[in-house]
Amino acid sequence: MNHSVSLKHLHTFGIAVTAKEYVAFSDEKMLQSLTPVSAPYLVLGGGSNLLFTKDYKGLILHNKIQGIDCVEEDEKSVLLRIGGGVVWHELVLWVLEKGYGGIENLSLIPGSVGAAPVQNIGAYGVEIKDVFDRLEAVHLQTGKIETFSKKACDFGYRDSVFKRQLKGQYCICRVWLRLSKKARINTSYGVINDVLAQADLPLTIQSVSKAVIQIRQRKLPDPATLGNSGSFFKNPIISLSKFSTLKLQFPDMPFYPVGDKSVKLAAGWIIDKLGWKGYRKGDAGVHRHQALVLVNYGNAKGMEIWNLAKAIQASVFDVFGVVLETEVNIL
Ligand SMILES: Cc1cc2nc3c(=O)[nH]c(=O)nc-3n(C[C@H](O)[C@H](O)[C@H](O)COP(=O)(O)OP(=O)(O)OC[C@H]3O[C@@H](n4cnc5c(N)ncnc54)[C@H](O)[C@@H]3O)c2cc1C
Repeated sequence: MNHSVSLKHLHTFGIAVTAKEYVAFSDEKMLQSLTPVSAPYLVLGGGSNLLFTKDYKGLILHNKIQGIDCVEEDEKSVLLRIGGGVVWHELVLWVLEKGYGGIENLSLIPGSVGAAPVQNIGAYGVEIKDVFDRLEAVHLQTGKIETFSKKACDFGYRDSVFKRQLKGQYCICRVWLRLSKKARINTSYGVINDVLAQADLPLTIQSVSKAVIQIRQRKLPDPATLGNSGSFFKNPIISLSKFSTLKLQFPDMPFYPVGDKSVKLAAGWIIDKLGWKGYRKGDAGVHRHQALVLVNYGNAKGMEIWNLAKAIQASVFDVFGVVLETEVNIL
């Protein structure tokens, strides 16, 4: 176990904070030997969905469990078992190389495989739940390994049981995904088709991945050069009746129906409408091209980013009467 460890290079916001204690583990046995873990503790993957507002006064458990194994195969599909510490995009590249489809739309999402089910990562019309089979997690008090089916994970929009009732109780060590050998390409987001057409690329999982990578590199800042945690806020889901009132006031507001009674709004559009895009105070700011992304220009303190986030939430509530929830975990 290490003491007083800098976390600056272990999370994508790049805030200069330290952890009181730090330990990395590469298999379940190592993790089980640390149980019961005394609070406070935090399971860390790639650190791409975190904002540290202060030094962390507890133990960081860094998941480094590796391995990608094919455990079942038939004519149509493969079942893969993947270590929670595998980098998500490395898994995407591995499956593309083998020709397995299903996660090409999730190319270039930062972070680890173990964290992916926690917020049911999603992009361009696909979520991990679409290919998810099951996972194994270690209970951090009992040390027991437990299996969670798709149903038990209770996935929602950027949400799962691990963000709610079971928050902080388990470390996800292995994830099973069922991928397709016969391409089921999803280009429901028209922008993918536009890029494919422009570059004259065929409709394959590999070219969809290339298109997604191109779009993401154009749209989102690279954490290696500008600290950020991707979308800071979730897109708010509101009732149809509230939406009808807002639409009168903001006729050009983008929206996506969710079932019969709710509507999802574009948080980035709302924040942009209020003039926040490109805002900067000290080293904390709102990205110039993407209002949903808060950035650290170098030496921002976590509290400065958090105060900016709270000011955005308050102004959105004042004008739109809509509560913006954070997608990023605030510590
Ligand atoms: C530039 C950028 C773009 C992004 N784009 C997207 C996107 O398109 N779609 C999307 O969904 N997300 C996106 N994200 C957010 C982020 O990539 C995902 O949430 C990712 O799954 C986080 O993985 P991580 O390993 O970095 O998790 P961390 O940030 O390390 O942890 C996040 C949370 O999960 C918990 N956790 C981590 N690992 C485990 C584990 N093994 N078991 C239990 N709990 C665990 C942590 O305790 C913490 O609460 C983006 C982030 C960035 C920086």
